[in-house]
Amino acid sequence: MFLTRLIYFSRANREVDMDIDQILETARRKNKADNITGALWFDGSWFLQTLEGSRSAISRTYHRICADPRHNAVQLVSCDQVTQRAFHVWSMAYFADNEQNRGLVSKYSGNDKFNPAEMTNDSLFALMAEAEILNKI
Ligand code: FAD
Repeated sequence: MFLTRLIYFSRANREVDMDIDQILETARRKNKADNITGALWFDGSWFLQTLEGSRSAISRTYHRICADPRHNAVQLVSCDQVTQRAFHVWSMAYFADNEQNRGLVSKYSGNDKFNPAEMTNDSLFALMAEAEILNKI
């Protein structure tokens, strides 16, 4: 059976109190039940997320996420059929804003400031895949 891998990015809604731990707790609980894995990058302004699982579970989850008022301007990066998971251990890995991850931003964007709107689809995926290795997840 094939898997679906969906990547999107969005802006954090500054008018809503942001509790990243609460987002992660809900994401991990629901994703585990739906056999979804993935990773979430959050630097305080931008979210970048990869979701992997069955097409139906990814569709349901993505629609819920899009309707969430804690972020806005959601932009779909890609939605592909894949044969294996890149993030297979965690129901949702988390990459925070730290020195190590900022180093990856300059590697994949040629810019110190993270702006997913200016990065290619391949760079966005590679950034998260390498963050998983670097963060020893
Ligand atoms: P309920 O928990 O019943 O909530 C009802 C509504 O209120 C929903 O629209 C919900 O989005 C919103 N809401 C909930 N808590 C708050 C709050 N503290 N402040 C403002 N609004 C709130 N869910 C997953 O299942 N998997 C994921 O991988 C995942 N990743 C996410 C990534 C980001 C960047 C964000 C912002 C959210 C993510 N979520 C994820 C949460 C998702 O958006 C839903 O809130 C969650 O799936 C629960 O859905 P529900 O329909 O049961 O909503």
